[in-house]
Amino acid sequence: MHIQTAAVHTLRDHEHGAVVPPVHLSSTFELDPGSEDGAYAYQRGSNPTRAQLETVLATLDGAAHGFAFASGMAATAASLSTLTVGDEVILPASVYGGTYRFVDLVLPGRGVTGRFVDDLGALTDEDFTPATKAIFMETPANPTLRITDLRRLVELAHRHGALVIVDNTFMTPVLQKPLDLGADVVVQSATKYLAGHSDLLAGAITTNDPHLAEAFALAQKAQGGVLAPGESFRLIQAIKTLPLRLERQQDNAIAIVDFLRGHEAIREVWYPGSYSEDEARVHASQATGTGAVLSFELAAGLDRVAFLRALRYPACAVSLGGVESLICRPSAMTHEAMTPQARERAGISEDLLRLSVGIENVDDLIEDLDHALRAAR
Ligand SMILES: *Cc1c(COP(=O)(O)O)cnc(C)c1O
Repeated sequence: MHIQTAAVHTLRDHEHGAVVPPVHLSSTFELDPGSEDGAYAYQRGSNPTRAQLETVLATLDGAAHGFAFASGMAATAASLSTLTVGDEVILPASVYGGTYRFVDLVLPGRGVTGRFVDDLGALTDEDFTPATKAIFMETPANPTLRITDLRRLVELAHRHGALVIVDNTFMTPVLQKPLDLGADVVVQSATKYLAGHSDLLAGAITTNDPHLAEAFALAQKAQGGVLAPGESFRLIQAIKTLPLRLERQQDNAIAIVDFLRGHEAIREVWYPGSYSEDEARVHASQATGTGAVLSFELAAGLDRVAFLRALRYPACAVSLGGVESLICRPSAMTHEAMTPQARERAGISEDLLRLSVGIENVDDLIEDLDHALRAAR
């Protein structure tokens, strides 16, 4: 089954011939008085609606197990919940700001060290110690869209007994399936492309490893950051149009990259594969598309604020993946938790703008950008 079909048809055979799944709001479930057991007992542990969503999440990633959380950060925290006192996780310095905050402020209190590196692609055997238990990574990176060779990192990490956890929010299973490339865990902020309408906070984890699956089920049950049934249902419905939305968003993004690259008011455009031919080749070998997020810098002397104010369609807002285009300035908005030096090393200049491209008519978007670039002079 292709992913466009799986997104729609993974869940079948609902009660009464209903075409969409029911929502089970019950917090508790009747148990057999003899065995004191049942398929479901209490909503936090599991419930039929969340279980249906988790089946969809697992199916799309080609995974044995799926888990739905109340946010991408709850999923991220759960993905790192197997780390204990003395362990270390390696992350890129440009990792998502919320992940940076969690690793920087929360993990040390649990005796877990986060080691931030400038370039995951430059990791070698010497970077691993017996304490290194995991690599947490994103490819493409945010907001530089730099690419990391997933297969190489998996091989390297596994040689040292470390897990590879991939935050696949930017690509989604429509464009990239890290588990198929050997990664141990995939995390997503479902708030972004999976939900797709900027109206729902959710997170997802998938894995093929039964021991990790147990740990993630424990994180749900013991920490309680689970997705509610109503939100689970809304996500099931949203995912049905994920492949369609992303296809359109990507077509729009490619056209916008072409437009911006040729524009005299633009200094530089970043898009997956744009950094080097090598990165383009690696990306093409591990993903089936380039996605719908791009970054760019205005040419010197242009008024950034005037540009942003003149834009009619993309709202100046953090987040991405929704049907509406959004634009933000990562150094001040999404990556403000990093030190200026760390941002500099990660290639996130003060002037860099990140555009999440929506499903609007692309001619309207390009005309809007063109007009705002003129207003910035
Ligand atoms: C938004 C985001 C997160 C966090 O997800 P929330 O749903 O906001 O908690 C994690 N990783 C990436 C790449 C994100 O864009």
